[in-house]
Amino acid sequence: MSGIEIKAYAKLNLSLDVLGILPGGYHEVKTVMQTASLCDEIRIDLNKSGEVSVRTNFSFLPKDERNIAAKAARAFFAAAEMNGYGAELTLKKRIPVGAGLGGGSADAAAVLRGLNDLTGVGFSQSQLEELGGTLGSDVPFCICGGTRLGMGTGDQLFPAPIIPACCFVICKPRFSVRTPDLFAKIDSRRSRIHPDTEGLLATMRDGDLAGMARRMYNVFEDVLPRRCSEIGTIKNEMLDAGALGAVMTGTGSAVFGVFTDQESARTAAEVLGRNYRECFVASPIEKY
Ligand code: C5P
Repeated sequence: MSGIEIKAYAKLNLSLDVLGILPGGYHEVKTVMQTASLCDEIRIDLNKSGEVSVRTNFSFLPKDERNIAAKAARAFFAAAEMNGYGAELTLKKRIPVGAGLGGGSADAAAVLRGLNDLTGVGFSQSQLEELGGTLGSDVPFCICGGTRLGMGTGDQLFPAPIIPACCFVICKPRFSVRTPDLFAKIDSRRSRIHPDTEGLLATMRDGDLAGMARRMYNVFEDVLPRRCSEIGTIKNEMLDAGALGAVMTGTGSAVFGVFTDQESARTAAEVLGRNYRECFVASPIEKY
């Protein structure tokens, strides 16, 4: 049967705010999200085995049904009532895991989009986003991509101004941060600083990159455990290397810096790359 190759792009949170707790324990967020060119490459081979198998170069990832890409394929076949169908998924991973870059969500979204094209089932984008939302809060964004304002659990997406031309350096320290732990810490804080999300969106609308970079803010940075001090170090190193602004993405542990051009981003990545293996230069992606 036929196969398809598709890119799964990383997500960056230009700002991330937590507004409160929703019934069921999830949190209401307000976040400006951006797709970046750092990507995994996914190959999907459709078959009629009734099984979904995963192969990946990141050997520590689960290869069975626990892998979110496998869950996505299962969810697609169920929604499309394609009984007896299966798929072999080959994930060439580059996006760091446990980084707040939405790597798993991106893979799941790519599997849904890829299977939709491959099988000719023809789910609409909003149907795919709804299906993606059952797999994880960031999956709907990874299906539509570009620049979006995310509300609800991050799954309600609204148009946002296109990001001014820029370059990113993305850098992950060796450790990861557990997402539920950070949400729990946020809950225990009685007062918090909130990002100026409207101001951030206004600078983007005006094409004011420096103003945008100054307004990037992630509330989770204020509740990081003490052992995560390296996140602050990386941010400082980015700023020393010429970033207009630097912020943690999602619940971390990756940090990204915003640079005006490729050359200054490459120079910064070279400096950071001496201490951090997972360091990448990327650019914004607006359309898949
Ligand atoms: O949706 P996702 O699987 O990415 O969420 C991972 C964990 O993050 C959830 O189990 C939950 O603890 C927390 N979360 C939350 N509110 C959100 C998104 C995630 O509490 N809006």
